[in-house]
Amino acid sequence: MTSRPRSLAILGVRVDDVTYGEALEFSRRFIRSGKPHLLVTVNTEFVVSAQKDARFRDVINTAALSVPDGGGLLLAGRIFGFPLREQVRGTDLADRLAELCALEGHRLFLLGAAEGVAAEAGRRLSTKYPGLQVAGTYGGSPDPGRDAEMVARVRQAGRVDVLLVAYGAPAQELWIARNLERLGTPVAMGVGGVFDYFSGRVPRAPKWMRDLGLEWLYRLVRQPWRWRRQLALPRFALTVLWSVLRRRQAIVSLRGDPLVCGGEGD
Ligand code: UDP
Repeated sequence: MTSRPRSLAILGVRVDDVTYGEALEFSRRFIRSGKPHLLVTVNTEFVVSAQKDARFRDVINTAALSVPDGGGLLLAGRIFGFPLREQVRGTDLADRLAELCALEGHRLFLLGAAEGVAAEAGRRLSTKYPGLQVAGTYGGSPDPGRDAEMVARVRQAGRVDVLLVAYGAPAQELWIARNLERLGTPVAMGVGGVFDYFSGRVPRAPKWMRDLGLEWLYRLVRQPWRWRRQLALPRFALTVLWSVLRRRQAIVSLRGDPLVCGGEGD
């Protein structure tokens, strides 16, 4: 593995060209360093909202690791001649981080989702990965007015090596960015609706649909109220096209860019 991943700036949003194995290896290093690191799982919805939300864009661009979660980003990379090697889905990366914690004795905290969901997700992960130490679980809220209380909750749990935060993007990334230094957690990652899957409350698309890139269709059929959010993909395509028409570079390779080293090897 290279010491610094190659990155792309897709419409100004940094995405690192990492595989699952490399993302886990970086996580191991972050835990070893004992210093706080933010991991973000970028998809087209992130890129679209980061166009209007400079704070969100900065949080992504200065994260320790920004994994390519969305299939639309891989497609755009291929079309523009900057292929990303692997789609690193947030749901699967969260699952593999739980497995890593169980195998290597790290402590996991699950923060977010509706009342009781994180606790149930923690119980099921402990059954799936025997020996997993769930340091704690809590629903809570991403409301900045409750930050002090939430930070106290996590700190009460003692040592936490990996913190997964489920408040949906961008609230969860902004929550982590505001509170990470105070928490000092080596690996903190926003995970969206992942606890809903882990707890069994919401079924995940079957593997064949995920492999065909149709997870969005499954979610649309099961949760039709999400249709507005799913406009992110056509919006992303139109923004890329608009950049091209205006002779701007929609995608830039950031090999060697100083941003790429954020958090690595600290
Ligand atoms: N959520 C929460 N508090 C909030 C807003 C959202 O706990 O104020 C949780 C919600 O219950 C869900 C997750 O955040 O578990 C967001 O899920 P969503 O499906 O929107 O995320 P995606 O996977 O699409 O990023």
